[in-house]
Amino acid sequence: MIQQGGSRFRRLLGGLLNAALPPHCLSCEAPVLEQGTQCAACFRKLTFAVAPLCRRCGIPLPHAGLDICEACDRRPPLYARARAALLYDDGARALVLPMKHGDRTELALPLARHMARAGAELLREADLLLPVPLHWRRLLARRYNQSALLARHLARLARKPSIPDALRRTRATRPLGELGAIARRAELDGAIRLAPRHAARVRGQRVLLIDDVLTSGATAETCAAVLLAAGAARVDVLAAARVPLRG
Ligand SMILES: [Zn+2]
Ligand SMILES: [Zn+2]
Repeated sequence: MIQQGGSRFRRLLGGLLNAALPPHCLSCEAPVLEQGTQCAACFRKLTFAVAPLCRRCGIPLPHAGLDICEACDRRPPLYARARAALLYDDGARALVLPMKHGDRTELALPLARHMARAGAELLREADLLLPVPLHWRRLLARRYNQSALLARHLARLARKPSIPDALRRTRATRPLGELGAIARRAELDGAIRLAPRHAARVRGQRVLLIDDVLTSGATAETCAAVLLAAGAARVDVLAAARVPLRG
C-alpha cells in the first residue's frame, strides 16, 4: 500500500508531521509560518550589508559620497569585488556559527538565499563558483565544508556550475624561480592550491569564490592569487557575512 501510493503517502505524512511539529524559527523556538525561515524578532537582529559599500571590498562606507574605502584605495585587493549578505554581528553569528560548528546544515539554504540577493550581480557575471577550502583535518572533524554547502545552494539558485574541491588547503610549495609576482605570493603563502585536474576549468573564467565569513580578506586574497595565477579572468568573492572592518 505504501509503495503504491508513495508520493501521496509522503505528502500525507509530511502534512501529519507539520501538524505534529509545526515549523519553528531557525534560530529560536518561536513558531513561524514556513519551515526554514526566521521569526520576526530574529530576522530583525540581522544587519544586511547595504549601500553605500566600497566597490572593491564591499565594506559599508560612512557616506554615499565615497565609493572606495581607505584600505582599498591604499592597496587594492587581488580580487575584483567582495560582497556579503550580512554584517557579522550577533544576529549573523546566530545563523553562521551553528551551521559551521553545530551540524545545522539546514541553515546553509536560508543563508545562501540572502547571499543570492546581496551578490546578484556577481552571480550573474560568474562562470564558475568555487568554495574557499577547509583543511583536510578540519574537514575530517567537521565532516563537511560549510562554504561548499553554501556554494552548492548558490549554484542551484543561480544555475551556475560549482566545483567543491577545486581549491585545496596544503602547505607544500614548488620552486619560485619562473613565477610572476602574483604566483610567487600565492606560492609563498602556500596554504591553498588549485587541484591540477581542475586547472583547465579555471582558465579564462570569471570565478566567484564562496566563503562563510570574510574577516581580513586574506584567505580570499590567497585564493584569488592562486586562481589568477592559474589564468582566471577575474575573481569575485561572495560571503554570508563580513566583519565590517578591514585589517
Ligand atoms: Zn526566532
Ligand atoms: Zn574597500
